[in-house]
Amino acid sequence: MPSLAEILEVRTAPAARELVEPISKNRIRCYACGHACPIPEGAVGVCKVRFVRDGVLHVPWGYVGGVQCDPVEKKPFFHARPGALAFSFGMLGCDLHCSYCQNWVTSQALRDPHAVAPPLDADPDALVAEARRLGARIVVSTYNEPLITSEWGVTIFKAARAAGLMTAYVSNGNGTPQVLDYLRPHVDLYKVDLKSFDDRHYRSLGGRLDPILFTIRRLHEMGIWMELVTLLIPGFNDSEDELQRMTAYIASVSPDIPWHVTAFHKDYRMNDPANTTPEMLVRAAEIGQRNGLRYVYAGNLPGRVGDLEHTKCHGCRRVVIERYGYFIQNYRLTPDGACPDCATPIPGRWAAGFEGQIASSPFLPGSRRLRTL
Ligand code: SF4
Repeated sequence: MPSLAEILEVRTAPAARELVEPISKNRIRCYACGHACPIPEGAVGVCKVRFVRDGVLHVPWGYVGGVQCDPVEKKPFFHARPGALAFSFGMLGCDLHCSYCQNWVTSQALRDPHAVAPPLDADPDALVAEARRLGARIVVSTYNEPLITSEWGVTIFKAARAAGLMTAYVSNGNGTPQVLDYLRPHVDLYKVDLKSFDDRHYRSLGGRLDPILFTIRRLHEMGIWMELVTLLIPGFNDSEDELQRMTAYIASVSPDIPWHVTAFHKDYRMNDPANTTPEMLVRAAEIGQRNGLRYVYAGNLPGRVGDLEHTKCHGCRRVVIERYGYFIQNYRLTPDGACPDCATPIPGRWAAGFEGQIASSPFLPGSRRLRTL
């Protein structure tokens, strides 16, 4: 029986030339994520899934760790095609090791022996055909960290765009200039998980704060639609000071960037902090609003956070999209994405009209074209 590492080792392709730099006779630098690993011959990067052999950087290719259909609100994107179905796929591996990860079975593969997720053989055209058959409007790379599997993601996105679908990354934002330039022509929507505003906290998760802040600013400059999410963890990232600095930074990039502050529940190896309460979310949201953010949402506790699930016009403050959890209850935007009451344009990537909601909760598509290895 081959090991997971052996199964994945043969499902690789050479890295995109934009994401590699030979730095010495026996070393190649990888630019797929902010670690920018200088990888010696025969070694793997921090992510464990990109490795150098025979002078070539090999990267994940030809499989998915899983697929699922979700309402786009689950990603969460609240300002992009509300109600649309998002066909989500992921590979295996991550460049961070967050102890509270909710996708640890796929993200921590090869790092944690308990994370065993058999890969499924996949073909980009078949995945996109399946997405279309199910009525999806958006194809999303998620579940593992998509930056470290960008070559495969871009290949699927090219097929998705050719079929008229939008594309999205759900990412930790640990990017580099090189990988963001590489992605720019192919990605419509980008969610960044802003986990903290303290470099020491990021280091405890295996990263650094600076590359994430760079990614946020750069994505905004590039014109890729971006929404930010902060999982509010009591005692970890919820101090007044940290939330003040975090939301001031977001507002300095743009007050129009939606910020979702979502509730933590005990998961994986983080079992000490208490679960986040509605009051904690509301307090954090108020800090963001006071710092000038126009679109602040509280998530994961449907019906318990007042009007913080709804989109309100920043001009007249009337509700333009009403939600309960992922479910759209009322949609009032004009065809060009403006408030129907005061005509203020609402930032986002809107459809000409609300096309209904295929599903307000995730479901497995049950693809016949995917084969477990
Ligand atoms: S993706 Fe990141 S962690 Fe993996 S090899 Fe490249 S730079 Fe290193």
